[in-house]
Amino acid sequence: MKYSSILKAFSLLFISLLATSCFSEKTHKQPKLVLQITVDALRGDLPNRFNKVLGEGGFRYLMNQGLHYSNAHYQHANTETIVGHASLATGTIPAAHGMVGNVWFDREQGRLVYNIEDPEYHLLSANSDVDQKTEIDHTQKTAKSDGRSPNNILTSTLSDEMAMHFAGRSKIFAVSIKDRGAVSMAGHAGKAFWFSKANGEFVTSNYYYKKYPNWVTQWNADKPASVYAGKSWTLLHSAEKYMFADADNREYETDIAGFGRTFPHEYGKVDDKYYTTKLTLSPAGDDLTLNFAKTLIDSENLGLDDVPDYLAISFSSTDYVGHVFGASSLESEDNIARLDRTLADLFSFIDNKIGLDNTLIVLSADHGQPEAPGYLHELGINKAHYFDVDALDKTPAITALKKKFGIAKGLIEAYFHPYIYLNQKLIHEKKLNQAAIEKAVAEELMKFKGVAYAVSSTALRTASLPDTVMIRSILSNFHAKRSGDIYLVYEPDVFINDFDGLTVTSSHGSPWRYDTFVPVMFAGAGLSAAKNTRFITPYDIAPTIAAYLGVKTPSGAIGNPLREVLNK
Ligand SMILES: [Zn+2]
Repeated sequence: MKYSSILKAFSLLFISLLATSCFSEKTHKQPKLVLQITVDALRGDLPNRFNKVLGEGGFRYLMNQGLHYSNAHYQHANTETIVGHASLATGTIPAAHGMVGNVWFDREQGRLVYNIEDPEYHLLSANSDVDQKTEIDHTQKTAKSDGRSPNNILTSTLSDEMAMHFAGRSKIFAVSIKDRGAVSMAGHAGKAFWFSKANGEFVTSNYYYKKYPNWVTQWNADKPASVYAGKSWTLLHSAEKYMFADADNREYETDIAGFGRTFPHEYGKVDDKYYTTKLTLSPAGDDLTLNFAKTLIDSENLGLDDVPDYLAISFSSTDYVGHVFGASSLESEDNIARLDRTLADLFSFIDNKIGLDNTLIVLSADHGQPEAPGYLHELGINKAHYFDVDALDKTPAITALKKKFGIAKGLIEAYFHPYIYLNQKLIHEKKLNQAAIEKAVAEELMKFKGVAYAVSSTALRTASLPDTVMIRSILSNFHAKRSGDIYLVYEPDVFINDFDGLTVTSSHGSPWRYDTFVPVMFAGAGLSAAKNTRFITPYDIAPTIAAYLGVKTPSGAIGNPLREVLNK
């Protein structure tokens, strides 16, 4: 055979291989709706762990009739809400999408900023105010303005790609209790609604609308949040069904005034200062989210024509309940049982309206969840403890460093998990070497009990650091304009529990496996049931849906389409 004919034969073979690998994927019909569910802080093991309290049609539908990936982990270090949501939306790491934390220090403004705050816009609501009744969601207090927009998200989202591909004909919406849970998923082209603790309404900003759609005004006028007044959060099943039936009253749980540590948890009166906050600390928050989402599906006629629509729903209660009571508590167990009913309700509603066969469903989480130190102590795991960061700048080691470099005033400008921001102005004025100070501070921090790593950003940028999983995860989180000067990683089971004076039971945000571990479940759209234990990342989700729809991948995406979803 002549060389040219061999070449021809090979190229023909190559073309046919290409055809089978790429073009056979689009054998399915286009879904009418992409439903992306995010359960805030749903650690990957939790649905199976609490299997005994689950019913039919919720998690069991996803796990038994869908594709369940049980070994999915984030690769970035700062496992926080906006970081995970933005990663799900964009299919990439914070180094690319830019959402490095719930809060970061903006050097230009010289202050801490909240991830999606945007002074160019304002909250679109007649009677809400900036000072939300938020005691748990401390991070929002950082924001100077009540304006919210996706402008800080630097790469495109899956929803943006759908908008571009379908020439703006896809209807794109996102709903969540948390503003950042909705704004991130709606992307730059969609519409976002979130819950205002100030007035118990679902709100948006004038980035999205000039005026509320009538159905939203009507929904708010009906005051669905007020129906919980005088009621309480009780157990869904009889107590003996629960793994944690005998562990309701634990002194390490956060005792919120009037809500308490044990069932029933009273919501109190509508005009109680913390009424709406209590709703979010219980399954009521997810109920309200479902209620609003169902009205949205109806009112906006989602999934009724041939152009695929997109709806993201982020359920926040699992996260708040975890922070307050811990992942291993009767409250967390009952919350999962009730979330399961919420999901079953949502799926049956969609089945009636649109058909599950016409709906591509994906469920995942923005991050996992740690165990509360108190729970670990009960099991004899005594090394678990809380880390006091408040006194960092005044510790003898840092004081000695300041003396060495001739700095009297604060060397540490700000600390907000996970970054320490040095006083660069001071360092510059004194003509000191920033890299040398970062290195010296990092070395001192490494000596603290409970600190696993302290990595200098200059070192990340310039030095040849060892290629370890930890360093890679910190690099994945690194954005030159937003990251701080030193990344602080605590040892496993060591946490900060003090947020602006409020003590919580547990907090996620580490690169450890309990925080990176999330479920990934695809269902509907005629997908066959399968369980998969191979290692995947949540960055794969957006590229998978993009490939499924035949739209291009989001601009910064690093994940790979999951072949099991495409080759059904
Ligand atoms: Zn959280």
